[in-house]
Amino acid sequence: MTVKDGAAHIKSLRDGREVYLDGKPVEDVTTHPAFRNAVASAARLYDFQADPANRDLMTFESPTSKGTRVNRAWLKAGSYDDLVSRRKAMTAWAEQHYGFMGRSPDHVASAVTGQVIGLDVFERHGAKYAKAYDEYHAYARDNDLFLTYVIINPQANRAKAWGEQTGEDMTLHIVDEDTTGVTVRGAKMLGTSSIMANEVFVANLQPLKPDEERFAISFAMPMATKGMKVLSRKSFEAAAVSAFDNPISTHFDENDALVYFDDVKVPWDRIFVFKDPDMCRAQFHDTPGHVYQNYQSQVRLVVKLKFMLGVARRIAETIGTIAIPSVVETLGWMASEVSVVEGMLHGMESNGVQRGQYFSPRPSQLYAAQIYTQDLYPRFVHEIRELAGGSLIMLPSSEADFDNPELAKVIEKTQISSREGETAQDRVKFLKLAWDILGSEYAGRHTQYEMFYAGARFVTCGHSFRTFGWDECNDLLESALSSYGSKRDPGKGDPGAKAGGESAAAE
Ligand SMILES: Cc1cc2nc3c(=O)[nH]c(=O)nc-3n(C[C@H](O)[C@H](O)[C@H](O)COP(=O)(O)OP(=O)(O)OC[C@H]3O[C@@H](n4cnc5c(N)ncnc54)[C@H](O)[C@@H]3O)c2cc1C
Repeated sequence: MTVKDGAAHIKSLRDGREVYLDGKPVEDVTTHPAFRNAVASAARLYDFQADPANRDLMTFESPTSKGTRVNRAWLKAGSYDDLVSRRKAMTAWAEQHYGFMGRSPDHVASAVTGQVIGLDVFERHGAKYAKAYDEYHAYARDNDLFLTYVIINPQANRAKAWGEQTGEDMTLHIVDEDTTGVTVRGAKMLGTSSIMANEVFVANLQPLKPDEERFAISFAMPMATKGMKVLSRKSFEAAAVSAFDNPISTHFDENDALVYFDDVKVPWDRIFVFKDPDMCRAQFHDTPGHVYQNYQSQVRLVVKLKFMLGVARRIAETIGTIAIPSVVETLGWMASEVSVVEGMLHGMESNGVQRGQYFSPRPSQLYAAQIYTQDLYPRFVHEIRELAGGSLIMLPSSEADFDNPELAKVIEKTQISSREGETAQDRVKFLKLAWDILGSEYAGRHTQYEMFYAGARFVTCGHSFRTFGWDECNDLLESALSSYGSKRDPGKGDPGAKAGGESAAAE
């Protein structure tokens, strides 16, 4: 049996991709100080799945490539048990990065797998697109590719439609087509993990107007494609001082980037949607694609919230506030929120829906969890900062302060932990981790991520509106309305009577 491991992934990234940082091209993302640790963290995920002890948990045998085991995120779940097996694998991976790599390889693998479960939707669009997508899914799965996606247009002017924006080449659009394929030009945001992914999946999650056909395309291409430019945001990994000072941002800065397509040629066998604005919507929402991708996000977030809760409690223990009733109340509330979110995850699974031979989480419950957690995350961060006070700031400038004997003595005298047996260094080590995830620039990016990765609130609330089972609510209301009438309405009983019309008094 072969399983993709970390070395194979690192090798695959030395492909000549065009990544830019601080005005310069990056020659090799696997060795560059801005990216190498994040790349190594991604590679460790593959090593984890290749470890014989984790193979069953993390992988399944490809149905088309005998002898090849691939990550469970590629599994089209046929049942509740299949779904749970995917969740267990995703949880195990999320535990490797404490939930801080939002776009680990199982995210877009889930999106693509969910869309291919709804291949009939692509059949309606055209047999050649359905065939191309089905074959692409099998190819990506059998090679266990790390995919990123750019499914959102650059923000620009929200008062205007994409076609009305002033920058003609701002949004990715079709500029040409011939017998071999289609040429596209323009940008998409925000390719999280694109610096270390193998391929990028491109689509339009935001609604397009019926006449905006030139934006209506979906495809996948290798990151090293000619003309594809990856413009990295500031690297927090590069800005991190050391693993001691920035333990999470040194290793789990997955990066985000604007991806610009400078006349990129896409062959027809990589195109899944073409010049059909409604199909751009359908590929996410008439298939379980959008649900599958965001279900993975909720699985990951449960791990991250548990990690944050651990940090919250440890802060109270470290500064000696753990027995104060109001602190206990805060921690109890936070613990209950983690249980609520985990319960929502199990609820969307056990109330899952069967679509033909495939099973997926219940959409309305997924969107409820999404709306809930995009509000909860910033509140969690705020509450933990509230618990911590100045301890997160009263810290040595860096680990180097310990190397100066005079400063080391001052640190020894002033960094006092109320946890039994803990040294000044232990206290500093922990509080630096806390600041890294709560108050640093990296932490700020994470709050923005959890608030927006699935769309602004009006978008996620729209998904809830769209998928909720309104009939049940309406039936209850109709039952009440039909159970009584007005005195002026012959044959109807009094308000409050049971269905049937007659009130108890009338009887
Ligand atoms: C850290 C991070 C990583 C990301 N990674 C990826 C990725 O890997 N791939 C990808 O494709 N995308 C990614 N995104 C993009 C993400 O999906 C978008 O940020 C998200 O969909 C919101 O779109 P927007 O940023 O254009 O904000 P907007 O939709 O413009 O929202 C900004 C604000 O304006 C308000 N607003 C705008 N329009 C309206 C309206 N019509 N009605 C009411 N309010 C409105 C919103 O409520 C919100 O407060 C990432 C974003 C972040 C922050």
